[in-house]
Amino acid sequence: MSLTKPLRLLLLGAPGSGKGTQTSKLLAKIPTLTSISSGDLLRKEISIKSSIGKTASKYIEKGDLLPDSIILDLIYKELSDKNWLSPNATWLLDGFPRTLNQAIGLDNRLSKHNVNINLVVELDIPEDVILQRVENRWVHIPSGRVYNTQYNPPKIPGKDDITGENLSKRPDDNAQVFKQRLQKYHNEITPLKKFYENQNILHKVSGETSDIIFPKLYNLIISKFGKS
Ligand code: ATP
Ligand code: MG
Repeated sequence: MSLTKPLRLLLLGAPGSGKGTQTSKLLAKIPTLTSISSGDLLRKEISIKSSIGKTASKYIEKGDLLPDSIILDLIYKELSDKNWLSPNATWLLDGFPRTLNQAIGLDNRLSKHNVNINLVVELDIPEDVILQRVENRWVHIPSGRVYNTQYNPPKIPGKDDITGENLSKRPDDNAQVFKQRLQKYHNEITPLKKFYENQNILHKVSGETSDIIFPKLYNLIISKFGKS
């Protein structure tokens, strides 16, 4: 699909709602799209044992959010490095902003370049489905590719389809930490949604599986930004 104007998309959704999966599907369909996932970025920092990675792992292990200022600086640096502040760039954010403070901070910075987020989509999935999913989730840390041993298993068990490298289980995908992450999400989401609702850019797509969600998301994007 080609777009008729730049898309600057934020995906919202509970942990395990499939933001990463929807991101991969969109990247495959929209050649000009690029993405940043705050969680993937942090897991990479942890895997290379950088100082920000060391800080991040303390929060992530407990299912807590990193302080707003740390994550805001990290993402903003990444998006200026990727040339996302250019008026023609088309991009997608997954996992950031996820508090009202982060949203305001990002908005202030993007405003200076006139490249504010112009579409926000909430992925709405039943909580019992999410809980089941996370138990079976495996990730390829360098790329962020996500597998599910039930729904989309890797071709070779435990290995990434593209690189053949090992998959990992996220340490924060266990029942106890996951409950904490879900709770944090519910605490933060209402004011965040209000912020984007007030800008008239908030939409919601609902469904039980990624295959049901994706066409809805895709059609929404086409209806606002593209021609198929
Ligand atoms: P999922 O990847 O399952 O959709 P999630 O959104 O909980 O779920 P990630 O986005 O991968 O997971 O984030 C993992 C952890 O990284 C969070 O629990 C938090 O500790 C930290 N983190 C990620 N993004 C942010 C953010 N915007 N602000 C603060 N902390 C963050
Ligand atoms: Mg994710």
